[in-house]
Amino acid sequence: MSGHRPLAVAIVGAGPAGAFTAAELWRHGSECSIDLIDRLPTPWGLLRGGVAPDHGEIKSLERHFESETFARGARFFGNVEVGRDICHADLAARYDAIVYAIGAQADRRLGLPGEDLPGSVAARSFVGWYNGHPDFAELGPDLSHQTAVVIGNGNVAADVARILVRDVDELASTEISDLALSALRLSQIRRVILLGRRGPAQAAFTSSELRQLGGLLGVTPIVEPRDLELDIASEQWLAESGTFTAHSNMELLREYASRATTAGDGKRIEFRFFGSPVGLHGSDRVEAIEVRRNRLVRRADGRIGSVAVEGETELIPCGLVLRSVGYRPTSVPGVPFDEVEAVIPNERGRVIDHGRPMLGTYVVGWSKRGSIGILGTNKRDARETVTCLIEDHRGGRLLSPTRRDDDITALLSGTRVVTGSGWRTIDRAERSLGAASERPRVKLSTLDDLLAAAAV
Ligand code: NAP
Repeated sequence: MSGHRPLAVAIVGAGPAGAFTAAELWRHGSECSIDLIDRLPTPWGLLRGGVAPDHGEIKSLERHFESETFARGARFFGNVEVGRDICHADLAARYDAIVYAIGAQADRRLGLPGEDLPGSVAARSFVGWYNGHPDFAELGPDLSHQTAVVIGNGNVAADVARILVRDVDELASTEISDLALSALRLSQIRRVILLGRRGPAQAAFTSSELRQLGGLLGVTPIVEPRDLELDIASEQWLAESGTFTAHSNMELLREYASRATTAGDGKRIEFRFFGSPVGLHGSDRVEAIEVRRNRLVRRADGRIGSVAVEGETELIPCGLVLRSVGYRPTSVPGVPFDEVEAVIPNERGRVIDHGRPMLGTYVVGWSKRGSIGILGTNKRDARETVTCLIEDHRGGRLLSPTRRDDDITALLSGTRVVTGSGWRTIDRAERSLGAASERPRVKLSTLDDLLAAAAV
């Protein structure tokens, strides 16, 4: 960036997409000042609040994020929500560029009768609850029944199914929230049904997640061998377009199908393919889920879809339904939003407003591309967005901040901002609580506790 005046960039959202964006900006030169703004008092978004607590190796990415952001001088403005405490126009008056990295803060809906009955929970909320996310401290999922049904065959579905049946003593050594740990100790859930609307070859699990489901202490994976007999459409699709993952998932599922089923009351994860939910039933809470049988069809675009087999539905008694059919990005006041695609409309990360790039405004991560892709996908994504930002900088197409020297700190005088040093205090407090019980950290899970810790 030498030869140009230093860039002032606000990154809204301090999750993986935001952190990778900061790292990419610095790859282009050090003459850049970066402020990371997050509505939570803690950074790292889904790395802290989404990645399962028993995936410690992924969680350790936080050290990389720390070294690519705050250790290089980026400032943190935690507990600050754009649209509530500060608005887009405030940022546009003070920064050359604003990058939205706000993720997906809502759930895709199924549109089913009974979807909102107590006992029907979005997987996003359940994930937040076991990860100590302050928004979900009060969730209190009912684990007093024997059967839970998880709708969806993606990695989030695999995570929540695993946490529901995983040995609690194993979970106790992780950073799982204390609230969740206590509730799971008392859980009566023995049987988790993973419901996929298409077939085994189309399941969205990555193989490592699927493999973990077959290696849990005291848990038997159950697969109906007849579900693995592929129809002609799937056989052809797998041969022509099946990914390495699809092939290796099929192998894993075949191996599960060949295992002896548990006798007695052992815990089990049942894979049910070709089933779509048609409704949740219960008088004042979920008592059963109704599932219709599907068959697969090859669509004009080559994709394999599912259609209902007329007349056949099954009622599965259960006390908990976790809806794991994807997260949904949400809008920010003052920034365009495509309600149909549920993304901030963009071209390669440049936010598009009425068909034209919106000056100095960019997007990255799930709010750019929808809730697809693993954590590392954001690195490539951030590179694309930052490349556009730098091109625009060089071409003189960024914002012209009128209040460049007017720090946002003054605007936020009424907000309990958590700075980088406040976050480090929270981090130290959690780690020292964890050290006492040989855990990586014990999470502070309410807003009040987090703000109090940051203020010490
Ligand atoms: P996902 O991978 O898109 O899976 C969503 C699942 O929901 C699919 O099985 C989909 O089936 C199903 N579904 C969608 N609409 C449905 C409906 N109306 N009825 C029934 N089923 C429906 O989403 P995700 O599991 O939320 O994960 C989001 C992203 O995060 C993914 O890219 C995932 O890999 C990533 N992630 C990664 C990890 C990890 O690496 N360990 C952990 C968690 C999440 P169809 O395929 O038929 O549409």
